[in-house]
Amino acid sequence: MISFPSGHQHIGGGYRRGTGATVARVNPATGREAERIEYATSRDADDAVKAAAAAFPAWSARTPGERSDLLRSFASGLEAQAQELAELETAQTGKTLRMSTQFDVPGTIDNTNFFAGAARHLQGLAAGDYAGKSTSMIRREAIGVVASISPWNYPLQMAAWKILPAIAAGNTIVLKPSELTPGTSLLFAQIATEAGISPGVINVVVGDGREVGEALIRNPSVGMVSFTGSTAVGRRVMELAAEGGKRVHLELGGKAPLIVFDDADVEAAAHGAVAGATINAGQDCTAATRAYVHSSLFDSFTARVAELMDNMVVGDPRQDDTDMGSLISETHREKVASMVLRAADSGARILAGGFAPDMAGAFYRPTLITGAAQDSEIVQDEIFGPVLVALPFDSDDEALALANDSPFGLAASAWTKDVNRAMRAAAEIQAGCVWINEHIPIVSEMPHGGYKASGFGKDMSSYSFEEYTNVKHVMISHDTAVHKDWQDTVFRQRP
Ligand code: NAD
Repeated sequence: MISFPSGHQHIGGGYRRGTGATVARVNPATGREAERIEYATSRDADDAVKAAAAAFPAWSARTPGERSDLLRSFASGLEAQAQELAELETAQTGKTLRMSTQFDVPGTIDNTNFFAGAARHLQGLAAGDYAGKSTSMIRREAIGVVASISPWNYPLQMAAWKILPAIAAGNTIVLKPSELTPGTSLLFAQIATEAGISPGVINVVVGDGREVGEALIRNPSVGMVSFTGSTAVGRRVMELAAEGGKRVHLELGGKAPLIVFDDADVEAAAHGAVAGATINAGQDCTAATRAYVHSSLFDSFTARVAELMDNMVVGDPRQDDTDMGSLISETHREKVASMVLRAADSGARILAGGFAPDMAGAFYRPTLITGAAQDSEIVQDEIFGPVLVALPFDSDDEALALANDSPFGLAASAWTKDVNRAMRAAAEIQAGCVWINEHIPIVSEMPHGGYKASGFGKDMSSYSFEEYTNVKHVMISHDTAVHKDWQDTVFRQRP
């Protein structure tokens, strides 16, 4: 059984103590201290970049087949420790063990297998003679050291989405997971090392975002920055990356609409809305947050959603009959609760939930709100909790305009039996993913990423793999003439 000592850093294939402050981490579902972490400092971050830079020449020189084999062994290592990974993911996030076991861990293993395959399948133009007597070809090359920064909501999958395409393409990486949830990222890196992925290819440093995250972005040996987190921090990351002229990849916040057209199956839409709004206690960047429902269905839809939400079991994430565990922290629960209270104070109605159950831990009931204004905080700002706001509409034009009336553009869904409506919604909604009669499912083969303030760049799929490469044009002349015809444009051949 592979383990990683609690509270340490993963640098150069081994573990060591951070040189910063010792900070306690709390289990959000119990409110009790879970571990003490010795935070990394900017010095430790620089050491991790050095380890990644030292590992780069040998790792990038490995053949795609060799990298693929190592990734397959890594996937087997993850499978062997699926249960430990799931338990740790639940202990640090408060999400249900059912979710960790059936979604986070299998998704991570599938992603690892996907990138084991992708490592051997870089796509590109065939070589061609585009300028007469010369052949052009494309080389796709690894960039170097990638710095990645990830959030706390799906810590294991976020580590996988960042690390796998980067290393499959021959880069080495330093990941800074959220300081609230570092455990599964560290264990993920340790399992990779034990599977034979060379020391230094994957490094994980745990510490404060402003100190350690910014040190990584600023480090001159880092060639690319990949960030998943809030839009506010994403802007800061982009600013810092711009100072160094670095490639940047941003996966930011979301505020996904869910449109229920007048021909939709209301029962299916209500189930989709509840699953979409409460998955991971609503702490999902693609969660359904704004339900726009045709006026003719509004009352039946909201009544059914309220009923389904009221029936949900909220509590101990380790119990099999629990539907929703805790939020990430008391502080975050307070933020969610205060947004709901402000909405109610401004005249919105709470049809389900809207309160924290009386128990230890950062729990909050699934909540349905109606009667909010389209331009209000609860409709426009990211809540990142189990809160769905429903608003009525009367025409397709209005529904699509309301859905697009948001700074975000990560994901959306439309519920209809009419193929023309479905195709129109798919075309007109400004988001990186549009589901029809579905909300949430993701697959390793398809890209995940945003439009507008939700960022740019893709995670998962061959699109993300390609983002971690530089594209180089190589032109080889097979014209034996000393003076080539095109050179006449610059200077004439004279005896
Ligand atoms: P956050 O932006 O507060 O933190 C994300 C990471 O950035 C953490 O590791 C944090 O330590 C680090 N950080 C903080 N300040 C930094 C700085 N100045 N420089 C560099 N790094 C810094 O986000 P969070 O609260 O951890 O996660 C929730 C957010 O993540 C939500 O907005 C959610 O929508 C977003 N998210 C987006 C996606 C996506 O794919 N688009 C996926 C998951 C989560």
